[in-house]
Amino acid sequence: MMLNCRQASRMISEAMDRPLTRAEQARLAMHLLLCGNCRNFRQQLRQLRAGIRQGRER
Ligand SMILES: [Zn+2]
Repeated sequence: MMLNCRQASRMISEAMDRPLTRAEQARLAMHLLLCGNCRNFRQQLRQLRAGIRQGRER
């Protein structure tokens, strides 16, 4: 079963807070291969998190 973008983006958000199961990782990876929008979303989220972390250290 394929993820839609809504499910994928929710999973990407959750992955920031908890480890995904192998099944979830596989499904998400499959979606990200096909979907540039969700790849961008994941990158933005990572950059956002990195920015927050840097801000705290200063
Ligand atoms: Zn998508």
